[in-house]
Amino acid sequence: MSWSDIIESQISPNPPRLTVEEAILIYEEAELNELLHVAHIRRKQMIRDNEVTYLVDRNINYTNVCTINCQFCSFYRPPGHPEVYTQSVEQISERISELEKIGGSRILMQGGVNPDLPLSWYTDLLSELSHRHPDIDLDCFSPIEIEGIADVCGLSTFEVLSKLKAAGMDGLPGGGAEMLVDDVRMDISPLKGSADNWLRVMGEAQKLGLTTSATNVFGFGETPSNRVEHMDRIREMQDGAISEGRMGFTSFISWPVQLENNSFGKRNRGSNRVELGASSSEYLRHLAVSRLFFDNIRHIQASWPTMGLEVAQIALLGGADDAGSTMMEENVVSASGTDRTEASEFELQRIISMAGFIPRKRDSRYNLLEATRLFEIEAVAPPPFQN
Ligand code: SF4
Repeated sequence: MSWSDIIESQISPNPPRLTVEEAILIYEEAELNELLHVAHIRRKQMIRDNEVTYLVDRNINYTNVCTINCQFCSFYRPPGHPEVYTQSVEQISERISELEKIGGSRILMQGGVNPDLPLSWYTDLLSELSHRHPDIDLDCFSPIEIEGIADVCGLSTFEVLSKLKAAGMDGLPGGGAEMLVDDVRMDISPLKGSADNWLRVMGEAQKLGLTTSATNVFGFGETPSNRVEHMDRIREMQDGAISEGRMGFTSFISWPVQLENNSFGKRNRGSNRVELGASSSEYLRHLAVSRLFFDNIRHIQASWPTMGLEVAQIALLGGADDAGSTMMEENVVSASGTDRTEASEFELQRIISMAGFIPRKRDSRYNLLEATRLFEIEAVAPPPFQN
């Protein structure tokens, strides 16, 4: 089959599941506009409403101490470095109070793998936060942080997750997936562990009923085949979760690696230059393929922090159905060179409305919430009828 045959087959009311080989072919060869168009049709088949969701939340990066040394990370500091910090319960709670004042519904709290924090530090923090802020979803940590806590306390990752959940944690965001291809992982963050490890910890979180999302950072010099392999690992795991009656991943979120202020970005200089990161059109291609590939994940999120609000807006017409979240004080990705660390609810409503959709505020599990329309497009009066 040619790429156009594959694209054609994806427009039918009951499109066949895209195989790995077909996904690689359209990734490499399909004309971008056609790909975006078909991804948009698929999005309308999967989510019939003319709505795009967004979340009002806050990122909290509770510690920058980390021993993992990912080459693309500009955020972490090794133990003993003069710039290390760990936030107190009071500092974190104050940030959540600020979020509550603007109608936010969740925090995304992530940090480094800090060997000085015992399990009780995390459970005490979660208990206190869930007591003080009962209406805020606490989506916290990532598989590598869970493994770090397990190493410190000598329990299994499942036991750690169980204790964190009992203390008040609502979700485990899918940070740290990057590329679920071991050759790539060994190249960019050898201490982070295998793809199997990430999938195992996320699967444990799903078994415990925690909210989970699947992420994907790309642009490390990997091939389209590697990128589709990443998607295939996620799709396979999602099949398993659904067959066992679980929700699985709520969404798939991808973005290109950022190259400022980290040793990985320096590889892009000099005579052995390899093309790293991704252009806007490559990002849109990636997102469109992900929409077609994931027939079992309902929500595909546009990434404004790395691509900018304008490209995220185009993504809403090329397969994405969610504009992401306000973030309010993102520190990890922005340390590697993004221009913005937060967007207001007004800005998200504006890009959604200007793309022709109705903005809908949601929570972490994609339940719709009441919200004031902050941005309205004035209806354009039809031209007068003339005989
Ligand atoms: S990406 Fe996360 S795990 Fe890797 S060095 Fe940065 S903080 Fe540590």
